[in-house]
Amino acid sequence: MIQLKTEAEVELMRAAGLVVGRTLERVRDAAVPGVTTAELDELAESEIRAAGAIPSFKGYQPHPSIPPFPGSICASVNDEIVHGIPGSRRLDEGDIVSIDCGAILEGWHGDAAVTVGVGEVAPEHAELLRVCEEALWRAFAAARLGGRVTDLGHAIESYVATQGEYGIVEEYTGHGIGTEMHQMPHVPNYGRPGRGPRLEPGLVLAVEPMLNLGTRHTRQLDDGWTVVTADGAWSAHFEHTFTLTASGPWVLTAVDGGAARLAALGATAATG
Ligand code: MG
Ligand code: MG
Repeated sequence: MIQLKTEAEVELMRAAGLVVGRTLERVRDAAVPGVTTAELDELAESEIRAAGAIPSFKGYQPHPSIPPFPGSICASVNDEIVHGIPGSRRLDEGDIVSIDCGAILEGWHGDAAVTVGVGEVAPEHAELLRVCEEALWRAFAAARLGGRVTDLGHAIESYVATQGEYGIVEEYTGHGIGTEMHQMPHVPNYGRPGRGPRLEPGLVLAVEPMLNLGTRHTRQLDDGWTVVTADGAWSAHFEHTFTLTASGPWVLTAVDGGAARLAALGATAATG
Protein backbone atom coordinates (compact mmCIF):
# COMPACT_ATOMS: atom_id res chain seq x y z
CA MET A 1 0.00 0.00 0.00
CA ILE A 2 2.89 2.40 0.75
CA GLN A 3 4.90 3.42 -2.33
CA LEU A 4 8.58 3.79 -1.47
CA LYS A 5 10.48 5.83 -4.04
CA THR A 6 13.98 5.26 -5.34
CA GLU A 7 16.48 8.12 -5.09
CA ALA A 8 15.94 8.84 -8.79
CA GLU A 9 12.16 9.00 -8.24
CA VAL A 10 12.61 11.36 -5.31
CA GLU A 11 14.63 13.61 -7.63
CA LEU A 12 11.66 13.63 -10.03
CA MET A 13 9.38 14.50 -7.11
CA ARG A 14 11.73 17.35 -6.23
CA ALA A 15 11.28 18.72 -9.75
CA ALA A 16 7.48 18.52 -9.35
CA GLY A 17 7.77 20.04 -5.88
CA LEU A 18 9.75 22.99 -7.22
CA VAL A 19 7.00 23.73 -9.72
CA VAL A 20 4.51 23.85 -6.86
CA GLY A 21 6.79 25.86 -4.58
CA ARG A 22 7.58 28.46 -7.22
CA THR A 23 3.93 28.71 -8.25
CA LEU A 24 2.88 29.32 -4.64
CA GLU A 25 5.49 32.08 -4.30
CA ARG A 26 3.96 33.84 -7.32
CA VAL A 27 0.40 33.37 -6.07
CA ARG A 28 1.36 34.54 -2.57
CA ASP A 29 2.70 37.79 -4.02
CA ALA A 30 -0.47 38.25 -6.09
CA ALA A 31 -2.87 37.80 -3.15
CA VAL A 32 -3.50 41.50 -2.58
CA PRO A 33 -6.72 43.43 -1.84
CA GLY A 34 -9.07 43.50 -4.85
CA VAL A 35 -7.83 40.38 -6.63
CA THR A 36 -10.32 37.57 -7.19
CA THR A 37 -9.57 33.98 -6.31
CA ALA A 38 -10.28 33.11 -9.97
CA GLU A 39 -7.44 35.44 -10.99
CA LEU A 40 -5.11 33.66 -8.57
CA ASP A 41 -6.24 30.37 -10.07
CA GLU A 42 -5.45 31.56 -13.62
CA LEU A 43 -2.01 32.71 -12.48
CA ALA A 44 -1.30 29.34 -10.86
CA GLU A 45 -2.45 27.37 -13.87
CA SER A 46 -0.30 29.41 -16.26
CA GLU A 47 2.76 29.05 -13.99
CA ILE A 48 2.28 25.28 -13.72
CA ARG A 49 1.77 24.81 -17.46
CA ALA A 50 4.70 27.12 -18.32
CA ALA A 51 6.89 24.75 -16.30
CA GLY A 52 5.67 21.83 -18.43
CA ALA A 53 3.56 20.41 -15.62
CA ILE A 54 -0.14 19.63 -15.21
CA PRO A 55 -2.35 21.13 -12.47
CA SER A 56 -3.37 18.03 -10.53
CA PHE A 57 -6.42 19.56 -8.85
CA LYS A 58 -8.16 20.48 -12.11
CA GLY A 59 -10.87 17.91 -12.80
CA TYR A 60 -9.98 15.95 -9.67
CA GLN A 61 -12.95 13.81 -8.67
CA PRO A 62 -12.43 11.54 -5.68
CA HIS A 63 -15.94 10.09 -5.97
CA PRO A 64 -18.64 10.11 -8.71
CA SER A 65 -21.07 11.82 -6.30
CA ILE A 66 -18.80 14.89 -6.09
CA PRO A 67 -18.46 17.31 -9.03
CA PRO A 68 -14.95 17.43 -10.56
CA PHE A 69 -12.88 20.19 -8.97
CA PRO A 70 -12.86 23.13 -11.42
CA GLY A 71 -9.71 24.95 -10.30
CA SER A 72 -5.93 24.53 -10.35
CA ILE A 73 -5.77 25.77 -6.77
CA CYS A 74 -8.02 25.55 -3.77
CA ALA A 75 -8.63 29.05 -2.42
CA SER A 76 -10.12 28.98 1.07
CA VAL A 77 -10.91 32.39 2.58
CA ASN A 78 -11.26 33.22 6.29
CA ASP A 79 -13.60 30.63 7.88
CA GLU A 80 -13.05 28.29 4.92
CA ILE A 81 -10.51 25.67 5.97
CA VAL A 82 -9.69 23.76 2.78
CA HIS A 83 -11.02 22.85 -0.69
CA GLY A 84 -12.48 26.30 -1.46
CA ILE A 85 -13.38 26.72 -5.14
CA PRO A 86 -11.75 29.72 -6.86
CA GLY A 87 -14.26 32.19 -8.28
CA SER A 88 -15.46 35.78 -8.41
CA ARG A 89 -14.84 36.52 -4.72
CA ARG A 90 -12.60 39.57 -4.33
CA LEU A 91 -10.10 39.44 -1.51
CA ASP A 92 -10.42 42.28 1.00
CA GLU A 93 -7.79 43.89 3.17
CA GLY A 94 -7.53 41.79 6.34
CA ASP A 95 -8.71 38.51 4.77
CA ILE A 96 -6.63 35.37 5.08
CA VAL A 97 -6.62 32.98 2.12
CA SER A 98 -5.29 29.44 2.01
CA ILE A 99 -3.89 28.60 -1.41
CA ASP A 100 -3.44 24.87 -1.95
CA CYS A 101 -1.67 23.81 -5.14
CA GLY A 102 -0.72 20.55 -6.80
CA ALA A 103 1.21 19.75 -9.96
CA ILE A 104 2.22 16.64 -11.88
CA LEU A 105 5.57 16.57 -13.67
CA GLU A 106 6.62 13.45 -15.57
CA GLY A 107 3.97 11.50 -13.65
CA TRP A 108 5.09 12.61 -10.18
CA HIS A 109 3.08 14.82 -7.85
CA GLY A 110 3.88 17.78 -5.64
CA ASP A 111 1.37 19.22 -3.16
CA ALA A 112 1.72 22.26 -0.92
CA ALA A 113 -0.34 25.04 0.62
CA VAL A 114 0.23 28.40 2.19
CA THR A 115 -2.13 30.76 3.97
CA VAL A 116 -1.58 34.40 3.09
CA GLY A 117 -2.65 37.53 4.93
CA VAL A 118 -4.22 39.97 2.46
CA GLY A 119 -2.76 43.41 3.14
CA GLU A 120 -2.75 44.16 6.85
CA VAL A 121 -4.43 41.47 8.95
CA ALA A 122 -5.57 41.50 12.58
CA PRO A 123 -2.89 40.43 15.08
CA GLU A 124 -4.79 37.29 16.08
CA HIS A 125 -4.97 36.22 12.43
CA ALA A 126 -1.28 36.90 11.83
CA GLU A 127 -0.56 34.82 14.91
CA LEU A 128 -2.84 32.00 13.69
CA LEU A 129 -0.83 31.86 10.45
CA ARG A 130 2.49 31.97 12.30
CA VAL A 131 1.54 29.13 14.67
CA CYS A 132 0.20 26.92 11.88
CA GLU A 133 3.26 27.34 9.66
CA GLU A 134 5.66 26.91 12.57
CA ALA A 135 3.84 23.71 13.61
CA LEU A 136 4.42 22.28 10.12
CA TRP A 137 8.14 22.98 10.32
CA ARG A 138 8.31 21.54 13.84
CA ALA A 139 6.97 18.30 12.38
CA PHE A 140 9.77 18.16 9.80
CA ALA A 141 12.38 19.03 12.43
CA ALA A 142 11.09 16.18 14.63
CA ALA A 143 11.10 13.59 11.83
CA ARG A 144 13.81 10.94 12.06
CA LEU A 145 14.59 7.89 9.95
CA GLY A 146 13.44 4.94 12.04
CA GLY A 147 10.74 7.03 13.73
CA ARG A 148 7.04 6.68 13.01
CA VAL A 149 4.46 8.61 11.05
CA THR A 150 2.55 9.73 14.16
CA ASP A 151 5.70 11.48 15.42
CA LEU A 152 4.81 14.23 12.93
CA GLY A 153 1.31 14.89 14.22
CA HIS A 154 2.55 14.68 17.77
CA ALA A 155 5.08 17.42 17.07
CA ILE A 156 2.35 19.57 15.51
CA GLU A 157 -0.11 19.09 18.37
CA SER A 158 2.55 19.53 21.07
CA TYR A 159 3.72 22.82 19.62
CA VAL A 160 0.20 24.19 19.03
CA ALA A 161 -0.79 23.37 22.62
CA THR A 162 1.93 25.70 23.92
CA GLN A 163 0.74 28.59 21.74
CA GLY A 164 -2.87 29.13 22.81
CA GLU A 165 -6.40 27.89 22.32
CA TYR A 166 -6.55 26.55 18.78
CA GLY A 167 -8.62 23.78 17.23
CA ILE A 168 -6.63 21.27 15.18
CA VAL A 169 -8.81 19.85 12.41
CA GLU A 170 -9.06 16.06 12.59
CA GLU A 171 -11.30 15.13 9.62
CA TYR A 172 -8.63 15.97 7.03
CA THR A 173 -5.04 14.80 7.22
CA GLY A 174 -1.77 14.72 5.39
CA HIS A 175 -1.00 11.78 3.14
CA GLY A 176 1.50 9.78 1.21
CA ILE A 177 2.17 11.16 -2.26
CA GLY A 178 3.92 9.90 -5.38
CA THR A 179 2.43 8.75 -8.67
CA GLU A 180 -0.95 9.72 -7.20
CA MET A 181 -1.69 12.82 -5.17
CA HIS A 182 -3.20 10.85 -2.31
CA GLN A 183 -1.52 7.66 -1.18
CA MET A 184 -1.17 5.78 2.06
CA PRO A 185 -0.43 6.45 4.83
CA HIS A 186 -2.69 9.06 6.42
CA VAL A 187 -0.73 11.66 8.35
CA PRO A 188 -2.89 13.02 11.18
CA ASN A 189 -2.02 16.38 12.74
CA TYR A 190 -2.41 15.19 16.32
CA GLY A 191 -1.93 12.12 18.47
CA ARG A 192 0.58 9.99 20.32
CA PRO A 193 4.05 9.51 18.85
CA GLY A 194 5.67 6.20 17.96
CA ARG A 195 2.80 4.72 15.95
CA GLY A 196 1.98 4.00 12.35
CA PRO A 197 4.34 3.16 9.52
CA ARG A 198 8.06 3.65 9.96
CA LEU A 199 9.73 6.75 8.54
CA GLU A 200 12.16 5.28 6.07
CA PRO A 201 14.11 6.36 3.00
CA GLY A 202 11.83 6.73 -0.03
CA LEU A 203 8.70 7.51 1.99
CA VAL A 204 7.30 10.81 0.71
CA LEU A 205 4.59 12.54 2.70
CA ALA A 206 2.47 15.66 2.35
CA VAL A 207 2.04 17.12 5.83
CA GLU A 208 -0.72 19.71 6.21
CA PRO A 209 -1.91 21.06 9.56
CA MET A 210 -5.24 22.94 9.55
CA LEU A 211 -5.65 25.20 12.55
CA ASN A 212 -8.82 26.99 13.67
CA LEU A 213 -9.12 30.02 15.95
CA GLY A 214 -12.19 28.32 17.45
CA THR A 215 -13.11 24.68 17.87
CA ARG A 216 -11.70 21.93 15.64
CA HIS A 217 -15.11 21.07 14.16
CA THR A 218 -15.85 21.39 10.45
CA ARG A 219 -18.80 21.59 8.10
CA GLN A 220 -19.02 20.80 4.38
CA LEU A 221 -20.80 23.28 2.08
CA ASP A 222 -23.40 22.20 -0.49
CA ASP A 223 -20.94 22.77 -3.36
CA GLY A 224 -19.50 19.36 -2.49
CA TRP A 225 -16.04 20.78 -1.80
CA THR A 226 -15.66 23.77 0.49
CA VAL A 227 -14.95 22.87 4.12
CA VAL A 228 -15.64 25.61 6.69
CA THR A 229 -15.31 25.83 10.44
CA ALA A 230 -18.49 24.78 12.24
CA ASP A 231 -18.38 27.86 14.47
CA GLY A 232 -17.40 30.42 11.81
CA ALA A 233 -13.98 31.09 13.33
CA TRP A 234 -11.13 31.70 10.88
CA SER A 235 -8.75 28.96 9.88
CA ALA A 236 -5.21 28.50 8.54
CA HIS A 237 -3.63 25.71 6.47
CA PHE A 238 0.00 25.10 5.54
CA GLU A 239 1.37 22.13 3.64
CA HIS A 240 4.61 20.81 2.20
CA THR A 241 5.66 17.57 0.54
CA PHE A 242 8.78 16.12 2.18
CA THR A 243 10.99 13.08 2.49
CA LEU A 244 13.73 11.92 4.85
CA THR A 245 17.26 11.20 3.72
CA ALA A 246 20.33 10.07 5.65
CA SER A 247 21.38 13.74 5.86
CA GLY A 248 18.00 15.02 7.09
CA PRO A 249 14.55 16.14 5.95
CA TRP A 250 14.20 17.35 2.38
CA VAL A 251 11.18 19.60 1.84
CA LEU A 252 10.51 18.99 -1.82
CA THR A 253 7.99 21.83 -2.27
CA ALA A 254 10.11 24.47 -0.52
CA VAL A 255 12.25 26.34 -3.03
CA ASP A 256 15.30 26.11 -0.73
CA GLY A 257 14.49 22.51 0.22
CA GLY A 258 13.64 23.67 3.73
CA ALA A 259 17.17 24.80 4.61
CA ALA A 260 16.31 28.15 6.18
CA ARG A 261 13.32 27.10 8.29
CA LEU A 262 14.99 23.88 9.46
CA ALA A 263 18.19 25.73 10.38
CA ALA A 264 16.11 28.12 12.49
CA LEU A 265 14.90 25.09 14.43
CA GLY A 266 18.38 23.67 14.84
CA ALA A 267 17.77 20.90 12.30
CA THR A 268 19.78 20.17 9.20
CA ALA A 269 18.11 19.95 5.81
CA ALA A 270 19.20 17.38 3.27
CA THR A 271 21.34 18.83 0.55
CA GLY A 272 19.42 16.88 -2.10
MG1 MG B 1 -2.63 20.26 -0.84
MG1 MG C 1 -2.40 17.40 0.45
